[in-house]
Amino acid sequence: MRCPPTQGARRADGVTLARRAAKLRPMHPRAQLLVNTTDIELWPAWLLRARGNRDARTLARADYVLRRKRDGRYLAARLPEGLQPLVHRLARETGIDRALAALDAHPPHARPGVDTVATLPLQRLRERLGALGLDDTYGERSGLPLVPEPEWLVHAGFDRFRRPLWLASDAALAWNTMQAAALRDEIVLDAISGYRSHDYQLGIFERKLARGQTVEEILTVNAAPGYSEHHSGRALDIGTVDEPPAEESFERTPAFAWLRENAAGYGFHMSYPRDNPHGIVYEPWHWRHEAG
Ligand SMILES: [Zn+2]
Repeated sequence: MRCPPTQGARRADGVTLARRAAKLRPMHPRAQLLVNTTDIELWPAWLLRARGNRDARTLARADYVLRRKRDGRYLAARLPEGLQPLVHRLARETGIDRALAALDAHPPHARPGVDTVATLPLQRLRERLGALGLDDTYGERSGLPLVPEPEWLVHAGFDRFRRPLWLASDAALAWNTMQAAALRDEIVLDAISGYRSHDYQLGIFERKLARGQTVEEILTVNAAPGYSEHHSGRALDIGTVDEPPAEESFERTPAFAWLRENAAGYGFHMSYPRDNPHGIVYEPWHWRHEAG
């Protein structure tokens, strides 16, 4: 396992310098990037909720936490003195080498708004879609492409449910700017949902299949995993105060009128207007940012 010793981790007065530094240092700028690999996400620790006292102590001292995408399990935390495993047999976790390499390589070197973001390979998604009985014909029928996940995303604030909102870096900047501009016009724009992983959508499918639904039945309600614009970090579901999320009634709000008038100026476009060629229901709340 790669756990480089932290500089200055020598004993002084019975307390390691690294530990003292962690206690005394002024608030380090909080990490704002979600680093993504095929199986494991690297989360800024301050955005994670502790699931017990031991977790809370660890998260308070960690900068990044490795989190299994399939079920959200915390796998390891990076502390000033090195990596602390949070599961048995961390070294056997699928994709752990890639995740540790990403941890070494990325934060804090990725510069939002400056560095271009590469995408992850689609191979494992294709395998899992095949196992669900979803082959390429879904894409051909719907005219939708498979959407790869980006290698990292930017923390764009919180959504209506106080969950961290992750977006591609230019989409995050555009969203924050647009939201502030709307507010100056006394319009409140809420984020309902931004980036979603392939695993998130696959999880929905697998749970419904386990309950006895067929793939065809599920597809009438849910987009097939891998085909949602939300996987790119460029799509955003937008709501407003006193409006239920993701309902067609959003089109009758002042917030929607404001978006129709102004969103294009910030690079946001409605993906699924009425009678769109993909046969997807009208979604006045779903907007996609196009790189400028
Ligand atoms: Zn959406």
